[in-house]
Order: sequence, then structure tokens, then C-alpha cells
Amino acid sequence: MVLRLSGVTVRYRDFTAVADADLEVADGEVLALLGPSGSGKSTLLRAVAGLEPLSGGVVEWDGVDLAGIAVHRRGFGLVFQDGQLFPHRDVAGNVAFGLRMARVPAARRADRVAELLRMVGLAGYQRRKVTELSGGEQQRVALARALAPKPKLLLLDEPLSALDRALRDQLAVDLAEVLRTAGTTALLVTHDQDEAFTVADRVAVLRAGRITQVGTPDEVYRWPADDQTAEFLGVTTILDAVASDGVVKTDLGPVELAVPDGPARLGLHPSAVRVGAGSVRGRVTARVHRRDHVRLTIEVGDRVVAAVAPTLGAPEPGDEVRLGLDADGIAVLHSRGNPTAH
Ligand code: ADP
Repeated sequence: MVLRLSGVTVRYRDFTAVADADLEVADGEVLALLGPSGSGKSTLLRAVAGLEPLSGGVVEWDGVDLAGIAVHRRGFGLVFQDGQLFPHRDVAGNVAFGLRMARVPAARRADRVAELLRMVGLAGYQRRKVTELSGGEQQRVALARALAPKPKLLLLDEPLSALDRALRDQLAVDLAEVLRTAGTTALLVTHDQDEAFTVADRVAVLRAGRITQVGTPDEVYRWPADDQTAEFLGVTTILDAVASDGVVKTDLGPVELAVPDGPARLGLHPSAVRVGAGSVRGRVTARVHRRDHVRLTIEVGDRVVAAVAPTLGAPEPGDEVRLGLDADGIAVLHSRGNPTAH
């Protein structure tokens, strides 16, 4: 079983929201559509659901063109940002909804509801009112409800975006686990890189209606397709440098990287620039405390770079520091033999 999109284009009057999208999602695979707000992610998801007519291209399931097949006949499950639970039904009533539609007998329904509530971490919640649940619990119920009829494909549109950060992190881990346990094939729309990387096997990055890259989280992080994709994924400094014998010499010092000899274009995440040891000198101009580290802005010659430091003993604005590069936070944008060039 496979979902295949070929040349999918969606226009709103003369505005093209999705242009020429090609994509495949394999059986049991979780693929994230990742991009900034307005890049066309929801439009593409809605086109797959059948909620948005195509202006061009084909959406196929198992080789069958879905054009002309109504939304509710596609056998796909949907989860939106705000759960959209039925407020007058209890948790069990919500989760069982699709099973009743499919005329599953009551006893089997109860078993399946119990199984799903266990899976989403809400065992025993059957009789609770959905209006009295927290936002996170409501999204867990929405997920259980969508999974109950064993959809061929689960479509998730920013399912965690309405939740606060800490809860979102936990639910992303849980969502990944639930999708793996259920063996569900899923398409997840998100603007949040951490969420996409946590939940998905592969990520399709969108920009201005186009898919710029498809790959595993590791591939898109390490080998972004172009500068803008790299910047969207958190690269703050781009350096042109030269590689020789597994060492790239840059304005910010040398770094060991397995790239072929010759010109190399590197994208640095803030975590690639470490203060403390290193051969290059700079001056701190700003310091912001983040959750578990300090983010610094540092002037190095006529360059301004972002860097990270541990929260304990981090330098202050005005301090002179030494810096060095850490290969772990470096993306390779272009080099001979760059995997994205194949
Ligand atoms: P994303 O999900 O990446 O935030 P959307 O798919 O919602 O992006 O929107 C992509 C673009 O299409 C945006 O510029 C948005 O304003 C536009 N758009 C979305 N829905 C409609 C609509 N029904 N009519 C006109 N323009 C729309």
C-alpha cells in the first residue's frame, strides 16, 4: 500500500498554494510536511483528504487515482489542531464514533475503545466528559478516535500546535510511539522542526508551495537542499570553505568533516559554534538564556555568529572569548560528493 502524489497543484483563483508536488508515503511510514506558515502544508494535506480539489496532478492510493472518490470513502482518518471532539458524547462515545459508523458490534467496540485508550495513555477514561479534559488529553482522545476504525492513512494537521511547549514535547514522543505501535501510515503537517523530527520517518520540507527536499530527519538536517531550507532548519551562519584530508578550514577555525577535498559550503547551527577552547577570537554582544543553554551573539572580525554555551559560567556581553567549531551542528550545503547532488 502506498500513497503517491504526482505533480499535485492546488490553486485558489490565480494564487498557487501548492505547485507540482511529487511524494510517496510507504506502508507504515510516517511522513511530516514541514514548512513555515503559509507554505502550503495544510493545502497539500487537504488535497490528499479530498477536501481541496486539484488544479493539476494525481493523488493515488495503491495505484488507484482518488479523483472522484469522496472524502468519507477514502478510508483516511483526520486529526486537526483543535481535536473537534463531540462535546455531548463522553470519551468512549467519541472514540467509538467511527466504529459505530462501521457497524462494529457493541462488545467489540468496547474492547477496541479500551485498547485505544490504553494506547494513548488514557486507560479508564471511558466515562469522562470531553469538555472536562485538558487540551493534551483532548488531543489524545482525537487521536484514539481517528485510529479506532484502522484508517488506511492518518492525516494529522498541526495536532499539537495548540498545546504549550512542554506538553507538546511529551505528546510528540507519545504520538511517535502510538503511530509505531499501531503500524499506521501517516502524513503529519507541522511548522515545528522538533516535532517533525521526533514523529516522522521522513520529512518533506515545503517553501512557498513547493517541496524543496524529502529525506530522513538526519539527511535534511545534515544535507539541506539549499541555503533557505538550511536557514528554515535553524542554520544561522553560512560559510564557504575548503576541505582537505577530512578537515574543512573556515574563518571560524578548522573542523573535521567527512567531505571530499575541494570547496565546501557549510551551514552552522548555533550549536556548531562553541565558546571556550578554539583558535578564533571574538567578542560577545548579546546573551539570551534558553531552556537548557545560553545563546550568544558573537562578533568575529566583521562577521556576527550565533553560538551556544552551558548555562553555568556563560560569558557576558562585552567579554572576549575563544571559539571553535563542533561538527555535530554543521550542515553541508554543497561539496563535491554531497549526497543531495545525486
Ligand atoms: P500552511 O499550512 O503551510 O500554513 P496553507 O496550506 O494553509 O499553508 O496555505 C498556503 C497558502 O494558501 C497561504 O498563502 C494561504 O493564505 C493560501 N490559502 C489557503 N487556503 C486558502 C483559501 N481557501 N483561499 C485562498 N487562499 C488560501
